[in-house]
Amino acid sequence: MPVYEFKCAECESRFERLSQMGETGKNLNCPKCGKPEPYRVMSSFRTVGKNGDSDSFAGSGGGCSGCSSGNCATCGH
Ligand SMILES: [Zn+2]
Repeated sequence: MPVYEFKCAECESRFERLSQMGETGKNLNCPKCGKPEPYRVMSSFRTVGKNGDSDSFAGSGGGCSGCSSGNCATCGH
C-alpha cells in the first residue's frame, strides 16, 4: 500500500498514512486537532518534491518541527 501525506485544513499539520490506493482522506482525522477529512498532499511521497524543495519531507507526525512556532520556514506554516 502506498503512503500518502495529508494535511489538515484546520491546524495545517501534516501527517502520513499508509492508505489504500485512492485514499482521499475522507475517512481520516487529523492526529493533532481531530478534524476530519484532511486533504491529500500530492507529489510528496518519500522523496524530495518535483520542484526541488524539500518541503514534502518536512514532517511525518503532524507538521514539521518548526510548525509549533506558527511561522515555519521549513514547510511554510
Ligand atoms: Zn489538525
